[in-house]
Amino acid sequence: MGKEIFCKECIIARGHPGVDFNKQGVCSLCEQIIPESCLDNYENNLKNCEMFYKFSPSEKDKYGCLLMLSGGKDSLFMLTQLLKDKKKPLAFTLDIPFESKTAKENIERAKSILDIDHISMSAYWAFKKMWKHIFMTAPNPQTAKLNSERICEACGNFIILSACFFAYKFEIPYVIYCADPSQVFFIYPDFKLTLEAMIDRVGVEVLITIFGEDVRAVLSEDNLNLPKIITPYVAMAEQYNAEEIINYLKKEGLYISSPIETHCSLWALYHYFAYKYYNCDADALVYAKNVRDGLIARNEMIEVTAELRDIYLEIAVKNKISQEEKTHIKKVVNKVTQNPREANWIFDQLLSMKKTADKLGIDLSAETK
Ligand SMILES: [Zn+2]
Repeated sequence: MGKEIFCKECIIARGHPGVDFNKQGVCSLCEQIIPESCLDNYENNLKNCEMFYKFSPSEKDKYGCLLMLSGGKDSLFMLTQLLKDKKKPLAFTLDIPFESKTAKENIERAKSILDIDHISMSAYWAFKKMWKHIFMTAPNPQTAKLNSERICEACGNFIILSACFFAYKFEIPYVIYCADPSQVFFIYPDFKLTLEAMIDRVGVEVLITIFGEDVRAVLSEDNLNLPKIITPYVAMAEQYNAEEIINYLKKEGLYISSPIETHCSLWALYHYFAYKYYNCDADALVYAKNVRDGLIARNEMIEVTAELRDIYLEIAVKNKISQEEKTHIKKVVNKVTQNPREANWIFDQLLSMKKTADKLGIDLSAETK
């Protein structure tokens, strides 16, 4: 009897980045084996947070920390807490293409209500350059690890690096990043580690073009002199309550929600490249967890991801999508989510995937390097 491709308990396939299988055909995630590097990330996160809680800025410090303000609920709420705790935050936003309009409006609202300083940096050129590089360069299979298929994580790292380089230049000791607790094992709570991970992904030259000679300076700098990355929500894990946060912000007039929280317009593109480079869905870990938790049937999910893969690979090389194909896509998308607004949004993203690629200067029919 040949080996089953999929884990017996969930939908993770053999060969999935960073996942091993035991003799019984069960994956290491189902066995709750967490890679050591991920555990280190978690421990370091906690240490940094404790240090930050004890820290209070001195009289002469204009700012005690740089808060990465995306305009989402988590960063808006954290801003109010940092003000309350007198941590002297400077709000920092990296203005990137494909960001939602709602997030921008939330930031404007916060500026008019709260007593804050806010820096917005435009990064269209740098961002496009980075994405083109990431999408068009096939990753090294040797360095693939758990979560590598989340190609979109590079975007988070890019934004973190932008904030860290800013804080480094202006000697602000802490950078606050409002990652949600589900990202607990995947955040590098360290400026230099984040930089090295990006160098591994896109090469040092691209980063020097974007961030300048500070890249080399940081690599040779002692860690003590670098800003520390703080991820407060990861540290509070169990107490994190999205609903409470939203209620508080709405009461303060600080928040209007968008139809779905994940509103990145590169959604379809990074899913496509996860299938292309890693032969799995970019959300495979989430889907696998849903199967494990009994929220969806295993066979059904395996079937849906196979259908999705075919859709992505086909529409990437097609100039026109027929009515019949559209109907099929809609049917499959409706199996991915129960939320009709979300399903519509995903459907639109799929249909406009090629257009989005064009905007980035990416030719989906071209061979990658
Ligand atoms: Zn499994």
